[in-house]
Amino acid sequence: MKYYSTRNKNNIKTSCEAILSGISEEGGLFIPARETKDPLPRETYFDKGEKAPYAEIAVSVLSHYLTDYSPGQIREAVLRAYCPGKFGSSEIFPLADMGRFGFLDLTTGRTCAFKDAALSILAPLMEYAKVNTGNKYKTLILTATSGDTGKAAMEGFSSSSAADVLVFYPHNGVSELQKRQMLTGRSENTKAIAIRGNFDDVQNAVKRVFTDSAFNNLLSDRGIELSSANSINIGRLLPQIVYYFNAYATLLQKGKVSPGEKVNFCVPTGNFGDILAGYYAGELGLPLGKLICASNSNSVLTDFFKTGIYDRRREFVRTISPSMDILISSNLERLIFEIYSGDDKKVAQTMNSLIREGYYRVDPNNEVFKTFEASWASEQEALAAIKTVFNEYSYLIDTHTACGYDAYVKTAQRGKIEGYTVILSTASPFKFPSEVLYALCEKREVDEIVSLETLNELTGKSIPKPIENAVKLDKEKETVIKASEITDTILKFIEERGM
Ligand SMILES: *Cc1c(COP(=O)(O)O)cnc(C)c1O
Repeated sequence: MKYYSTRNKNNIKTSCEAILSGISEEGGLFIPARETKDPLPRETYFDKGEKAPYAEIAVSVLSHYLTDYSPGQIREAVLRAYCPGKFGSSEIFPLADMGRFGFLDLTTGRTCAFKDAALSILAPLMEYAKVNTGNKYKTLILTATSGDTGKAAMEGFSSSSAADVLVFYPHNGVSELQKRQMLTGRSENTKAIAIRGNFDDVQNAVKRVFTDSAFNNLLSDRGIELSSANSINIGRLLPQIVYYFNAYATLLQKGKVSPGEKVNFCVPTGNFGDILAGYYAGELGLPLGKLICASNSNSVLTDFFKTGIYDRRREFVRTISPSMDILISSNLERLIFEIYSGDDKKVAQTMNSLIREGYYRVDPNNEVFKTFEASWASEQEALAAIKTVFNEYSYLIDTHTACGYDAYVKTAQRGKIEGYTVILSTASPFKFPSEVLYALCEKREVDEIVSLETLNELTGKSIPKPIENAVKLDKEKETVIKASEITDTILKFIEERGM
């Protein structure tokens, strides 16, 4: 299968090349050019009344897309990523059924957020991509994080020979525990640095580095190549398709749906990566009802799906769901490509008008819109959702998943969905203990470590091992820089690492 850029279809890459480069030279994102529209055969995920193991579903889905990897490499990468012990549950991502809906628990990985699903396999995929393309460069991954990608990338590439990882996060823009995770227990080849500003400032600073040709030439002379572990990298998106099929197979096995019956997925959304993987799953033959795009007060996507107008000219709001505090959802560009039926010129124009004018408009009657519903939760509504879900279902959700639950209830009340809905549980509540505690008992405890223990006592739910570890270890001193210092900081890291 070939991959081309959303902004230039003549820029064609193999999957190995696309995964190694992350973003295309002209700033576009790589898209799989599916030559066949054949669905993934049902037997690959559900056969003779049994759900296939997660790893087998992963092999089937990835084999479909990564055609220039050998079957042995794909199997090896999958086994390295999804081996028992890396996920805190025998069922990699269990589904908690609540009747008409269920929570898909994507928080069982080493950093307790859904990003572990893709980032644990990106390192082996990059390693084999280098072998397959004869790439002799040393790879430096630059990643902007709103909190969860950072540590997941650091874990995924921990002591990996495939790449070194530099993570940038907004200063004061992530939770104490997210920060603690990034500043403890890191391996030599990974490091996290704070940038003054919000997530969009951080993401823009990192994006500028990728398109700074002088800087890239300088690195190239030293045998270094930049790559990305953000969801703009197609290697991040493809592994996420797997859990949509896995969830569907789980529902078949539980007898909650019959073969072919459509299921809705409700996805707490920020950069639009996770939900886009759901859209791709639908294209690959998953019986998909609606995709519900859940946002917080930064409701730019809710407005987009209602009106077709994407307008970032608004106040950035810092919320209790920081991983969704985003006004520029990078992966929406891939959906715009679908909306324009692959017209790369129009995509480039549209993305330029977002940069120049701060907004763009597409036709909301376009076919692609029919798959989506959208809704957003205020802070009060998100807190109320945490309390309701705990009181009614004895199930503890985090502040992001709370936006998902709120969006599901509102969408169902508006009569917009039929059938079963899977709500993606994107992070452990123990990553945001102060807010979750406040939601449950309206007591303000600012110390996150105290909150952690209180939350454990109050709910009887156990603190995940990786979080317990992050609390025990000594935290290293935070490095804080200005966005303008990013290239100097990268050079300094390169020196330190002797790259
Ligand atoms: C990253 C993240 C999101 C948003 O996912 P996108 O793929 O960026 O849309 C939602 N919830 C949590 C907990 C996250 O870490």
